[in-house]
Amino acid sequence: MCATIKLKKNYFVLIAPAVRNHGIIWCMKATIIDGKKLAADTRAAIARGVVALKKEKDITPGLAVILVGDNPASISYVTAKEKACAEAGMYSREIRLSADTPEGEVIETVLRLNADPSIHGILVQLPLPKGISEKKVIDAIAPEKDVDGFTPVNAGKMLIGEECFLPCTPHGIIKLIEFSGMDISGKHAVVIGRSNIVGKPVAALLSRKGPHANATVTLCHTGTPDVAAYTKTADIVVVAAGRPNTLTGDMLKPGAVVIDVGVNRVPDATRPKGFRLSGDADFDSCAEVASAITPVPGGVGPMTITMLLWNTLQAAGGRTCA
Ligand code: NAP
Repeated sequence: MCATIKLKKNYFVLIAPAVRNHGIIWCMKATIIDGKKLAADTRAAIARGVVALKKEKDITPGLAVILVGDNPASISYVTAKEKACAEAGMYSREIRLSADTPEGEVIETVLRLNADPSIHGILVQLPLPKGISEKKVIDAIAPEKDVDGFTPVNAGKMLIGEECFLPCTPHGIIKLIEFSGMDISGKHAVVIGRSNIVGKPVAALLSRKGPHANATVTLCHTGTPDVAAYTKTADIVVVAAGRPNTLTGDMLKPGAVVIDVGVNRVPDATRPKGFRLSGDADFDSCAEVASAITPVPGGVGPMTITMLLWNTLQAAGGRTCA
């Protein structure tokens, strides 16, 4: 059995009585970065902002969510977003279209919402069914209502450091790293994954010049011959590969902060639904080496929706920055 000693805030050490090489084995146990708690605190502040906006300008922030088709995961994401809107005192409108809706009709729906004054934010739930160009639909969203931060205008502004809506998952990841107590400035951060919605924007945000950024960033992908060679020198590792066990404890520098973005359904006959959710990091081995780590679920996911609410509040208040 291991004894646990709390050395200082957020830092636990497990002392194993087993003796190896004539010495005591010291193994670190990471602090869990509680995304639910950070999300709850941030959403409470957003709800206060909603009340203030209503009082000062008689505006209720409105979010429209377009869902095309009946992908079960998309339906549950949209339901969670609507619930979060209601809890924050925001107005939400769901527009459900069948999977065989022509691309032109989806784009027309976006254009109608662009012109609707009761809607301040527009979100198109991805992925879209085959045959509908995600690029054309996203490009149709007015940049000032692009609360997902996916349009080329907002993506470009983020890259050159102009005010814009930051993409929700990457923005939430930055907040989680800060929440862990890690000062990002001057650190080496490794991002695994280079998608347009997670990996690339996270790398861009971490490397920005300014507060809550200023890291030296390495971006790894399937073309990286030895990912571990980079993660072993990293103070911060963000893993967004979409594959379980992409990151394991032996790939980490002791004390690193790990942000696990992955959401993977792993078959599990013992669960009622026949699967369990797993991240991209092997939680147990990483938690032995890291100083802090996000769980899956309960880490990045709650912050993604929270930053969506944040952007919607900003849009309703007439601001386009995050
Ligand atoms: P994606 O578009 O599939 O991109 C995955 C990236 O990971 C690619 O760039 C790929 O490299 C890289 N990659 C895959 N395996 C790798 C490996 N073994 N070593 C190094 N790089 C590897 O995925 P995504 O949209 O970014 O999402 C990533 C994960 O995050 C998914 O599990 C997704 O469900 C989850 N996610 C969660 C949230 C949330 O709110 N919690 C939001 C968005 C995404 P190549 O480019 O070379 O193929």
